[in-house]
Amino acid sequence: MKIGVLALQGAFVEHISAMQQIGVEARTIRLPNQLDNLDGLIIPGGESTSILQLMQSFGLVRPLRELAKAGLPILGTCAGMICLARKVSDHDMETLGVMDIVVKRNAFGRQIDSFETDIPIPILGEKPFHAVFIRAPFVAEFGSRIEVLAGLPSGDVVACRQENLIAIAFHPELADDLRLHSYFLSIVSQ
Ligand code: GLN
Repeated sequence: MKIGVLALQGAFVEHISAMQQIGVEARTIRLPNQLDNLDGLIIPGGESTSILQLMQSFGLVRPLRELAKAGLPILGTCAGMICLARKVSDHDMETLGVMDIVVKRNAFGRQIDSFETDIPIPILGEKPFHAVFIRAPFVAEFGSRIEVLAGLPSGDVVACRQENLIAIAFHPELADDLRLHSYFLSIVSQ
């Protein structure tokens, strides 16, 4: 299984190490030709403006859009969720635009911009997932192709799936829990 982790900026090392703990070799991706023959791709958290700008500079936007539409499994976490969204609310940022979600950046405000909480994610089983939110977005709107995977008690959607694409507002690579990465790999191997 060939898993790539977009390594332009942000928390890519932690995703590579999560994959290693599962026993899957993941490689860093910085250039379009490194996307050849991938079975799955992770877009990490970080700063979405920087990641998107670097994607543009390195010629990754078009190939990533094409691969997402062709069915490549992609997991976007935090800034990665923003990259996948079709729109950022109150912003005219150009994203990859492959998932039918509108996200709000830094959605939890300055007072509580980072927090950790246990949330139920039914597809992962009964045990709640320890979710680490760092200046996280949430899903403000979503279309009919979106399957909601997790929300907060407030109702804010923080994890969702659209066929081959998964977007998570928090940082599963910082939790001591590999279930979300394993869930992603189960989609890759289908
Ligand atoms: N606030 C960041 C952004 O808007 C995302 C933060 C993160 O990835 N932890 O891109």
